[in-house]
Amino acid sequence: RRAEYAALRDKPAVTKDGVTVELMVNAGLRDDVAALDVTGADGIGLFRTEFQFLVSATLPQRERQQRLYRDVLDAAGNRPVIFRTVDIGGDKALPYLRAGDNEHEENPAMGWRAVRLALERDALMKAQARALLEAAAGRTLHVMFPMISEPWELAQAKALFREQKIWLEKRERKLPKAVYYGAMLEVPALAETLDFLLPELDFLSIGTNDLTQFLFAADRANPKLAERYDWMSVAILRFIARIVRTCAQYDVPVGVCGEMGGRTLEAMALLGLGIRRLSITPASVGPVKAMVRSLDLALLTEQCAELLSGGVPNLREPLAQWADEQGV
Ligand code: PEP
Ligand code: MG
Repeated sequence: RRAEYAALRDKPAVTKDGVTVELMVNAGLRDDVAALDVTGADGIGLFRTEFQFLVSATLPQRERQQRLYRDVLDAAGNRPVIFRTVDIGGDKALPYLRAGDNEHEENPAMGWRAVRLALERDALMKAQARALLEAAAGRTLHVMFPMISEPWELAQAKALFREQKIWLEKRERKLPKAVYYGAMLEVPALAETLDFLLPELDFLSIGTNDLTQFLFAADRANPKLAERYDWMSVAILRFIARIVRTCAQYDVPVGVCGEMGGRTLEAMALLGLGIRRLSITPASVGPVKAMVRSLDLALLTEQCAELLSGGVPNLREPLAQWADEQGV
């Protein structure tokens, strides 16, 4: 099927009933950008900037960060790149963080990580903000904040970026044409404050890796639990369906950037709930695009609504059966 997927590279991800799905890829290193040309993806929906920090022996200085971001933007051309600010801390502890910052945590996944760390050690976040703003001079910058748990964290993160923008402006540095701000929805509590959050956002991205571990209280790094809970459980799907509905009310685009979206059946369920943007691992672009192109989305939407309204606690079997019958 490899050849079949390769042949889809330049074909659009459009359903049989004419709905376009945005297929983007997850990346983290400079060379990952090549996946755009190989797969024909629409852009980078998640660029994990912490990779550069994790592979460095010392804290990457602003100039080095800026060089990476500019290279990535150059390689992506006019395809959008969504840069996620550093998601370090917790189990991604860095040797060069101050000794006191590397304290052992019992539950690192729900510990001092991502914006929790970055907004407190704000010199780190300021340097990254300036690196991103300068790297995107004359272009569009998409920034996304990980592990936002309450709306005030988004407000602080955006304020920090704005301050850096003003700083650069005063020095007559060239700025991005536009800056779009997004948040990741990984912490379940955030779903209850979308009425405060969404008016402040240009886009939302659901990180199903962390979201699942928090919804099921099941450590994503524990192999004993890896197979235990299922993305096709109505617990996950109803949760996401509600977020999608609220985002539609506020007219804020919402995508999924966790591994869930890279599995064809799971991706199908997400489309059935109203998701129109997936950011996935490059190897999944071909199979997911093939699925999208064989899909009648109106029928799928009806089917998902019916299945979710009751009767089964898990959609894996019934949706796979439906897909079989439909020849998807
Ligand atoms: C996620 O949590 O789903 C996600 C995409 O972020 P990461 O896997 O980097 O934690
Ligand atoms: Mg995450």
